[in-house]
Amino acid sequence: MNYQLPIREYLSQHGFPTFCPKAVLFDMDGVLFDSMPLHAKSWAKVCTDFGLEMTPEEAYMNEGRTAKSTIDLLMQRQYGRDATDEEVTRIYAEKCKLFNGEAEAPKMAGAQQVLENVREHGLQILVVTGSGQKSLLTRLETNYPGFFHPDRVVSSKDVQYGKPNPEPYLKGLAKAGVHPWEALVVENAPLGVRAGVAADIFTIAVNTGPLRESALLQEGANLLFPSMQALADNFSKIIEAAKIF
Ligand code: CA
Repeated sequence: MNYQLPIREYLSQHGFPTFCPKAVLFDMDGVLFDSMPLHAKSWAKVCTDFGLEMTPEEAYMNEGRTAKSTIDLLMQRQYGRDATDEEVTRIYAEKCKLFNGEAEAPKMAGAQQVLENVREHGLQILVVTGSGQKSLLTRLETNYPGFFHPDRVVSSKDVQYGKPNPEPYLKGLAKAGVHPWEALVVENAPLGVRAGVAADIFTIAVNTGPLRESALLQEGANLLFPSMQALADNFSKIIEAAKIF
């Protein structure tokens, strides 16, 4: 694959003269951890308990939204209104209880190697997630020791809007101290890809779930890989291709 072509397209779409990656902004669920099957399962269960409905495919399609935005979507469909703050708190607490009651999600295959590649090339590593789990940093440090720093994590606590709004990725750029053309986003979810593209960042989709490739490509992904391992195998080639810009 010639990576100069998608880079050229990215530059012309966003009107940037150069492309010089200095930081990689990683989404967490479905990218660093194989946690989406558990999320989908706990959403389905909590929805049934509260008289709402969410299929596993919807869980993947809406992945990345804040809890409030997700719950409002379901409440609007079922009852024609937004959820109250109290409902959001109750439903999300129950969802987290179910999720945390499951065995911890394993590391995503190939993710460790991607992180090692990123570090070898001297790029910063950030996490930009819609998750608000209290244990988030501990989990990152336990599974990927030495790769992550508290100052380089954007979580639900840092943002008002959440994905698909570009806000989380814009905060990530600010934390890294880089411009959009100096970063890469790695995302598995359509709304996450939309957020990365809206933040004017070169966005790499990894299709680690059951979605069709078109669900990610139509949101504007600049590159698509079928797995994190495939990204690991090609990461150096992308960085080499960037050098001519
Ligand atoms: Ca994700």
